Amino acid sequence: MSDFVPVNEPLLDGREEDYLVACLRSGWISSEGPMVREFEEKFAQSVGRKYGIAVSNGTAALDAAVEALGIGPGDEVILPSFTIISCIGQIIRSGATPVVVDSDPLTWNMDVTAIEEKITARTKAIMAVHIYGLPVDMDPIFDLARKYGLRVIEDAAQMHGQLYRGKPCGSFGDLSTFSFYPNKHITTGEGGMIVTDDPDLADQCRSLRNLCFEPNRRFVHERLGWNLRMTSMQAALGLAQLERLDEFVGRKRRMGAFYQERLSRIPSIQLPLSETGYARSIYWVFGIILGDDIPMDAVEAMKRLAAEGIGTRPFFYPMHQQPVLRRQGLFENLTLPHAEKMYARGFYLPSGLALTEGQMEQVVAAMSRIFG
Ligand SMILES: *Cc1c(COP(=O)(O)O)cnc(C)c1O
Repeated sequence: MSDFVPVNEPLLDGREEDYLVACLRSGWISSEGPMVREFEEKFAQSVGRKYGIAVSNGTAALDAAVEALGIGPGDEVILPSFTIISCIGQIIRSGATPVVVDSDPLTWNMDVTAIEEKITARTKAIMAVHIYGLPVDMDPIFDLARKYGLRVIEDAAQMHGQLYRGKPCGSFGDLSTFSFYPNKHITTGEGGMIVTDDPDLADQCRSLRNLCFEPNRRFVHERLGWNLRMTSMQAALGLAQLERLDEFVGRKRRMGAFYQERLSRIPSIQLPLSETGYARSIYWVFGIILGDDIPMDAVEAMKRLAAEGIGTRPFFYPMHQQPVLRRQGLFENLTLPHAEKMYARGFYLPSGLALTEGQMEQVVAAMSRIFG
């Protein structure tokens, strides 16, 4: 039997090692030193923003963004239910109320036509999260933000190198955030970035990242921050990875096209949209949804694939169904049928950058045996 096909493996065979060694030799391994700043500048430039603030992970980037916008008790923030828990954590901890929206069953992104009915006098921000490879439709979100005076946080953790109507994802939010976890298009092992054009928000994020030390009175604090600093060793990896972003996006698109072509022959499997009027998928991951006439759910399907040597991951478990949030009295009686179905019947296939064509053949063969 052939080797197990892992769900994700990164590619680290460019100048990662050179830059990492240069970092070690320089002695600058903490967040001080030139490499973090260089990575911030180059990354911000790559998405057309003025400021980049490197942080320890994508969740930390979202936490700082929510805090920098002054979101707190009495405020409401609208976000998709179908997303990662990272999006909602600081909204809740700040004392604000998360308001979740169902998904579009084709793009798998937040249903932007369902946002306006959720806006109240207390709504402060919309958190727009790009899901799995296609951006969420930003224009309607901005129409609402202008009409109601709302801030926009853009979670672009899955969208390095993606464009929305020709403009980089990450260039849209008052604050936009990225993750550099190893399954993202570029990785620093652990890591994240906040980007913005607003100098005040950039200053606040920088301060929140570094415990809100006061510049002149080092250990006197006017605000509570966190230690969310990125190390220079992570930045060294990030600089090398950033050089390869176009190559990586090209690889992911070829991988997506391969799966699209080969899996379209299996009936009753919903494949991701390859494009919409505003973007072409970059296939952060290659997700599928089992059709209603397939007599098993995602859990069973993933078990069968594992038995065939194929790694998979479940889709997100919707926020409105999370036990930890339900126990707090949130989302009582709320049902969002598309998000719920996506979890129950969706999962993603091996889609990492190191995936070979031979491994994709193995995946397709296993899928055909099980569902063909
Ligand atoms: C990965 C991811 C995050 C969290 O990033 P970490 O670096 O793992 O903390 C946040 N939002 C989305 C959409 C993600 O995909």
